[in-house]
Amino acid sequence: MSLDEAQTKIYVERTQRSRQLWETTRELIPTGHAGGMGAFAPHPIVVEHGKGCWLWDVDGNRYLDLRLGDWVLIHGHSDEDIRAAVHEQMGKMVQVGAPEWDLGHSMATLLVERTPSIEQVRFFVSGTDANACAIRLARGFTGRRKIAKAIGGYHGTSDPLVAGRSVLREPDDILPLGVPPQAADEIVEFPYNDPDGAEEVLRRHGDQIAVLLVEPVMTAAGMIAATGEFLRRLRSVTEELGIVLVFDEVVTYPIAYGGAQTYFGVDPDLTTMGKAIGGGLPVSAVGGRRELMQLLEPDPSGERAAMSVMATFGGNSACLAAGIACLTKLTREAHAELAARGDRVRSHIDDLGVRHGIPLHATGLGHLIGIHWGERVVDYDTRLLDDRDKVRNINLALDNLGYYQTFTGLFLLSTAIGDQEIDGFLGAFERSLQVLGYVD
Ligand code: PMP
Repeated sequence: MSLDEAQTKIYVERTQRSRQLWETTRELIPTGHAGGMGAFAPHPIVVEHGKGCWLWDVDGNRYLDLRLGDWVLIHGHSDEDIRAAVHEQMGKMVQVGAPEWDLGHSMATLLVERTPSIEQVRFFVSGTDANACAIRLARGFTGRRKIAKAIGGYHGTSDPLVAGRSVLREPDDILPLGVPPQAADEIVEFPYNDPDGAEEVLRRHGDQIAVLLVEPVMTAAGMIAATGEFLRRLRSVTEELGIVLVFDEVVTYPIAYGGAQTYFGVDPDLTTMGKAIGGGLPVSAVGGRRELMQLLEPDPSGERAAMSVMATFGGNSACLAAGIACLTKLTREAHAELAARGDRVRSHIDDLGVRHGIPLHATGLGHLIGIHWGERVVDYDTRLLDDRDKVRNINLALDNLGYYQTFTGLFLLSTAIGDQEIDGFLGAFERSLQVLGYVD
């Protein structure tokens, strides 16, 4: 990676206390970030607090937050309604080893009413947990073993989910350190946005595939939106071959009211959700067809379920209170505004590319935005052709201008970001290209 020298110097000078405190944490926690998401060169900023769409680092710099706590804070930081809901719940009960009334029921209702494919739902803590449960349900239901996933898709940290090709590693590194080779035998990879190519793979392995996991927008891979045609083909082929179709909507659920699936009009058998649905607290969920979800229901004696999947914190009351407050505010109007602002950012970035005659362009859908420098990115292969040094340097220059994002050219909008902040961001975006000497 080659970072722009002048921008690196500016960054290092204005974030010295961040560096010092980050090094102190790194003595105790590898990466220096409690959850391991700290990677940012030359070093991450260390955050002191956030409010609304803003973040402040320990050096006193203010940023517009376009990373949203790793894609979680759809209403920004310290949202008053979510805070009030959690505060009230903390005084009532936080965690209970019994059904309660009516957090679980309300949260389930919010998801079931919004998303036609979801008839029943169960709660977990992380996206990884939710995907593990979906895989277990599909395997139990079909009696098959293999997991089909898109080349470049990300679904969490369990062994089979990290096996295969990923933009986070070199193309030939399909088995990360510590993952047993059996994990690679469990997966079948198909090309994204290639209906015929994917169908061919599915037909070849069809009788062994229990589940097909796919993101309606490949998010970590670069906010690469599926085409409707691709998702519809996956739907029809999985139906024909008896494969359980799972949409991993851990990141994409806020794309539209009821998830990306309502935007595309394609109903999966199961949906996994996480991140934003908890309003900043850890909530994830698996929902879908009753026939599948019923595997989790104990027999009439109340003792034994066909499949037992438990999660100590799955129904945590404070988390569900936060999730209910978050989803309640995520109205149809809020979704429409988020998507309109996302469209505005994407088309402005595309225009910049055209106006300056550079291969800069934006991808994504709804509040999810990816930037790329190269041929238009539609899948893993085109994403590999992206000029990542340019993308990283744009990230660095934007950070220096007060815009905080992931290190990988991905920006997310929250409902706390208004038109004025978008104007500022778009101005800063062009300025970042100028300071880097990429345009005049
Ligand atoms: N699915 C997708 C699409 C994700 O982006 C992620 C996390 N970035 C996960 C699943 C896993 O979620 P978690 O980190 O909460 O386990």
